[in-house]
Amino acid sequence: MTPDRTKKESPRVISPREDVALIEGYYSPQLDVDVRLNTNEAPEPPPPGFLKAVEEEFEAIALNRYPDRGAHELREAIAAFHGVDASQVYCANGSNEVLQSILLAYGGSGRVAVTFEPTYAMHAHIARVTGTTVISGERDEKFAIDKEEFERVLKAASGFGEENPAVSFICSPNNPTGQIEAKAIISFVLERAPGLVVVDEAYGQFAPRSALEDFAGSPNLVVVRTFSKTWSLAALRLGYAITTPKIVGCLEAVTLPYHLDALKQAAGRVALRYDAPMRGRVSRLVEERGHVTAELLDLGVSVCPSDANFVLIRPNAKKTAREIWEALLERSVLVRDVSSWPRLSGYLRVTIGTREENEAFLRALREVLLT
Ligand code: PMP
Repeated sequence: MTPDRTKKESPRVISPREDVALIEGYYSPQLDVDVRLNTNEAPEPPPPGFLKAVEEEFEAIALNRYPDRGAHELREAIAAFHGVDASQVYCANGSNEVLQSILLAYGGSGRVAVTFEPTYAMHAHIARVTGTTVISGERDEKFAIDKEEFERVLKAASGFGEENPAVSFICSPNNPTGQIEAKAIISFVLERAPGLVVVDEAYGQFAPRSALEDFAGSPNLVVVRTFSKTWSLAALRLGYAITTPKIVGCLEAVTLPYHLDALKQAAGRVALRYDAPMRGRVSRLVEERGHVTAELLDLGVSVCPSDANFVLIRPNAKKTAREIWEALLERSVLVRDVSSWPRLSGYLRVTIGTREENEAFLRALREVLLT
């Protein structure tokens, strides 16, 4: 039922917490279009055979019983996939929920989280929701984090207490700019930060390197991954962290009992059996990324180098980025308008899709730029 907004609210209706009232929710339009290149999903459904295998697993589930609270089999499978111990794996409903658990356990009142803008907006957003103070550093002109800027932010955060920053976020590859962070800077942050260093690798499989291999065994490192991108399972809502057993224990302490349903646990396990097709898809998307980049450069569009399944572009046109976004939408192509984000005036973010989707996008963009 639509609420009747003409009625005055009772003065006794409580407002949310003051800081929560100031927070804007996540916004990314979900529209019915022919070509969806706005949320960095995999363009193809899971590989043939996957659904059948999942169905078989589902039949064995006792739906009248609560699921395995510790998600043991799923964690074993993820651990085997990464060559770590199951006690180092924490699973949640999408990597966003992993990030939330991290901030519930390590953030909060008196605690500081640092981000380097422009970056994935949910890091700062979830921090604020959990009452964590956010200090934002700036990336350099190539959108990388530099040591001086990290030192500046570190100093600002330590003013809130010596345990701060309690959480330092590094998004690698960075959303929305696309590049992986240099090994030297991650190493520097791990050395200097007093708290957790969260390396968000939602796009890790598209990149040539991972903090999982580079910094295995670091006591403060938390690497976050998701099934939403490469595994073609954004609808499943499954993500995980690889870290130390001690940190996993702290994340579990703030997690609701039975938060991962049995169907999801089973589907996640089955997905990991499809490693070979997943890798094939990643290579195809990386190849497509090269093709799309070349075509865009041909059109006079600036393209940031990308290690992910999307590219950040600046069309350099008379039209504003917003106007281009609207004109693409009129042609049933949806990309992400990031032009109102810090430092990104004039930019759009475009997910790499199938060859057909990419061609449709390039055709539409050509038309928009040339008219
Ligand atoms: N981290 C980054 C950098 C992302 O871009 C996204 C999705 N846009 C997420 C985390 C969250 O992904 P999910 O919750 O679907 O795992």
